[in-house]
Amino acid sequence: MPADDLVPRESLEELRELQSDAFSAATFKLSQGRVVVFNPLHPLGRSRSNQAHELAHIVLDHTLRTLEKVGSSSFVTCDVEQEEEADWLGGCLLLPRAVLLSAARSGKSAAQLAEEYETSEQMARFRLNASGVLVQVGRERSRGRAAP
Ligand SMILES: [Zn+2]
Repeated sequence: MPADDLVPRESLEELRELQSDAFSAATFKLSQGRVVVFNPLHPLGRSRSNQAHELAHIVLDHTLRTLEKVGSSSFVTCDVEQEEEADWLGGCLLLPRAVLLSAARSGKSAAQLAEEYETSEQMARFRLNASGVLVQVGRERSRGRAAP
């Protein structure tokens, strides 16, 4: 749910003024399950990445560990290794390798991929590179040209 369903939008804007990256998204445990609360002030692509990151924490059954304070607000974060795992899985959930391979074979740019899958262009570029599909498609094309 968007955080402005829980707190006044002005509070989120004040927090953004204090520290623009202070709050992206967070997962709260409730008696009936978990809820991911995200910052509605972020652009759609970034917001979807933040939500996928939180979903990854849930899928990976990460534990909440660190309490941080920014101004009068408190935040709970995971350790560095768990954050990296959630970043990686979150990107995979948004842009699975099969999608990336198809996009690379059809010559789609990171911008086109980002628009089609409602991610940030930065995420699309990262996943195209980190997944190895650009190298794979480059080799496929080289072999195709070398064939008699
Ligand atoms: Zn996290």
